[in-house]
Amino acid sequence: MSAPYNFSAGPAMLPAAVLQRAQEELRSWRGSGISVMEISHRDPAFMQMAFKAEQDLRDLMAIPDNYQVLFMHGGGRGQFTAVPQNIAGPNDTVDYLNGGIWSDFAIREAQKFVAKVNVIGGVIDTDLGRALTPVAQWQLSEDAAYVHYCPNETVDGLALHTIPEVAAPLVVDMSSNILSEPLPVDKFGIIYAGAQKNIGPSGFAIAIVRDDLLGRAQGTTSTIMDYTVQAKERSMYNTPNTWAWYLSGLVFEWLKEQGGVAAMGELNQRKANLLYQYIDSSDFYSNPVHPDFRSKMNVPFLLADAQLDSEFLAQAEKQGLLGLKGHRYVGGMRASIYNAMPLEGVETLVSFMREFEQKHA
Ligand code: PMP
Repeated sequence: MSAPYNFSAGPAMLPAAVLQRAQEELRSWRGSGISVMEISHRDPAFMQMAFKAEQDLRDLMAIPDNYQVLFMHGGGRGQFTAVPQNIAGPNDTVDYLNGGIWSDFAIREAQKFVAKVNVIGGVIDTDLGRALTPVAQWQLSEDAAYVHYCPNETVDGLALHTIPEVAAPLVVDMSSNILSEPLPVDKFGIIYAGAQKNIGPSGFAIAIVRDDLLGRAQGTTSTIMDYTVQAKERSMYNTPNTWAWYLSGLVFEWLKEQGGVAAMGELNQRKANLLYQYIDSSDFYSNPVHPDFRSKMNVPFLLADAQLDSEFLAQAEKQGLLGLKGHRYVGGMRASIYNAMPLEGVETLVSFMREFEQKHA
């Protein structure tokens, strides 16, 4: 594959083979003469496709049988609101790590539905850069209904690479790192992700919920956000986002063809190493994160002279390197290198960065 390479944080690039297939099937899905968006979600062919997508995801992530796989509405933030309403009561305490911008939003949403959101730790500054409160120092409550954290903060490029051992069910926002490497699903109570980075179109979300956490929703929980209802209805309580479900299914098939999450994990590590090693070797670019806490998916970097930012972005775009502008909250640059980004995309980016440095240093 050659440029353009799209480094957008999300909605992010999709595998070229998936887009190609969707294009081929758009006007006539499975020879029906109509598109997949124009048939009932209760049509046997649609349901077969939808449940195969679920099975493929189960295979890819080795999801144990005592977990429900839900295809939900409302993206990542939909789950910020679903989680507290589904597994905590209004008088409960819940524990949240405030590890970055998305965790902060999740906290603010949870505060609406429970008596107390206890912040157990957050971002800390160290000599080697930004990091997270060490797990051993988390200020856990004794009676939390759950412990929530985001293992990959998309904006900050901060990641927690170890899985904490805690007594309460662990709930994780994996919007930007789901399917990026092997994961022991049984360590978690709930894994959720907005789809638009490593899965498919935006507005869609996956929630993987352990069975013992069902049946606990607050009485006021909206029915479409109720995990128990969605589990019972196999995510078809109301009309699901059929297009997103279909495209996600194509991405799961593609992932299987690539060798699954083990192969992705190796590739993602190589891509991240390449970019971080270059950034670290240069005085012209810098990454603000402690090496142990660096994200393999989202690599923020700053130019030593911020006045060159717009020139950098303009030149990059000219060469087909798109979506490199950092999040509006933090500025600078950010390269998001999810599963669909090939190694050549990162190699091309590093060559461009080197040339830009030589011209401007
Ligand atoms: N969590 C994380 C880690 C994210 O990166 C994002 C979006 N970038 C969200 C949640 C929110 O997702 P959405 O926009 O789908 O609500």
